[in-house]
Amino acid sequence: MRADQRFIHSINFKSCFNTYPLSVDILRLDLLHPVVSGNKFYKLKNDFTIAIESKAEGIGTFGGAFSNHIVACAFACKEAGIPCTGIIRGEEPSTYNPTLLDAKNYGMHLHFVSRIDYKDKEKLKKSFNKLYWIPEGGYGRPGASGISELFEQVPSLKEYTHIICAVGTGTTMAGLLNGSLENQEIIGISAMKNNLSLEKNIRDLLSPNKKKILPNVLHDFHFGGYAKYTGELIDFMNYIWDQFAIPLDFVYTAKAFFAMVSLMEENFFPADSHLLFLHSGGLQGNRSLPANTLQF
Ligand SMILES: *Cc1c(COP(=O)(O)O)cnc(C)c1O
Repeated sequence: MRADQRFIHSINFKSCFNTYPLSVDILRLDLLHPVVSGNKFYKLKNDFTIAIESKAEGIGTFGGAFSNHIVACAFACKEAGIPCTGIIRGEEPSTYNPTLLDAKNYGMHLHFVSRIDYKDKEKLKKSFNKLYWIPEGGYGRPGASGISELFEQVPSLKEYTHIICAVGTGTTMAGLLNGSLENQEIIGISAMKNNLSLEKNIRDLLSPNKKKILPNVLHDFHFGGYAKYTGELIDFMNYIWDQFAIPLDFVYTAKAFFAMVSLMEENFFPADSHLLFLHSGGLQGNRSLPANTLQF
């Protein structure tokens, strides 16, 4: 799975928002796959290479019951023919949600652990022999360099003055910063409330020539916290769908898109800006919303 120039779609804001610039390009990584869309494949790629080279007996990783990373990892392991184990935070539910069902059907061995036990990841790792471990959410340097490859696959990425992305662990943003040119600004929107270690976590993944960068992360668009949402956010998602036929996910991309429109309305971007919004996928997560919440 890889994106190319055809994944760039332009939308025109003219009739909808009183904003400048009027048009924005979107890198539609949500179109990569119906369930496992987005940035996660790019983040996993290099970890998989290392796991295979190190002759590990399988891959292990961590995540919550709705995690996009868990499904993506399960799917990627199936494709690569590698056994995989997912340590899931919380007790095993009596009925699995769609995320867990997909992960299980892709062949992932699911191990549910209490929220307390989940915190001691080193201890959990020791109880599974000879697995190659990918950190929760795919955080790390291999993940960041996988994201940097987007700049080669989609050459026009170098032409944008600003690239806007949603931020969880910060790996994607670090990869964009590492791959970007000097005059490009990367703006990240944190999906979490008060994730104060984020800037440091991002800087830890920057390549030596980028170490001086102070990541520009906005922390005020969490809508109550990670995976929380409000009626305003849902209305916004339905509106964007209605106007542009762009589906957003409520955990990450809707919050980032909302932030981008807010910045545009405040005239944050200079008149000659050329904006790219990274649609990092994650649409499978919308399946946890009550039926009929979204119009798509
Ligand atoms: C995981 C995820 C992110 C966050 O990526 P990080 O590299 O962890 O910051 C953003 N958007 C979507 C849709 C995701 O699934």
